[in-house]
Amino acid sequence: MHIELLKKIAEETMGKPAVDLIVILLKKKNINEFIIAKKLSLTINQTRNLLYKFSDRGIVSSTRKKDKKKGWYTYFWTFEIGRALLFMKQVLLKDTEHLKSILKSRENKRFYICKSCNIEMTEENALLTDFACRECGQLLELNADRKVIDDVNRKINKFAQQMKVVNEELERRGKEHEKERERGEIKSKKEKGDRLRKARMKRKRDKAKAEKGKHIKKEIEKGKKIKKRA
Ligand SMILES: [Zn+2]
Repeated sequence: MHIELLKKIAEETMGKPAVDLIVILLKKKNINEFIIAKKLSLTINQTRNLLYKFSDRGIVSSTRKKDKKKGWYTYFWTFEIGRALLFMKQVLLKDTEHLKSILKSRENKRFYICKSCNIEMTEENALLTDFACRECGQLLELNADRKVIDDVNRKINKFAQQMKVVNEELERRGKEHEKERERGEIKSKKEKGDRLRKARMKRKRDKAKAEKGKHIKKEIEKGKKIKKRA
């Protein structure tokens, strides 16, 4: 996984503290929340609030342990990369949709600007003041500057690239999961085979024992008969 990209997307979608938290959680599973707080230089309550935000989105999971002496619970947290990727995908999709709607309105509508006040408005609003600036009364000019459109397009492209990485990672994890499942199936089939074989052998042994027992009994009875006759 491209950890740097994961961190970058996390920062853009969830803010800077999220990144520090992810860095800690990526190191191992089931990390004590007091250790996380110490590493983040936050109080335990601030840390928990951050973790709960993650938890609400399903991107961390926890187990708890009761302190027998003090009677309180300590939580141990694990980062769920798969869920985090799905969450990022959602955010990227939403942001892209928003940018596309901005782009559409920029391309379909005309915008007017007062260059002195740097106020921009749609043509509908400019009509209301007869194309005069609300603030200074100066005549508005048609804003033909493509900078906004270019900026939006750049962002859309950036999100598309990030989305590609997220999708590739999800696909890779999906395949890995599938392989693991197959390995699990083969293993359980083999175990079932072993179990059946063992049971068969035990039946054979038991049968042999029983036969032997019968045989000995017969021999003994034969011995008794011989004795009687004698
Ligand atoms: Zn003005």
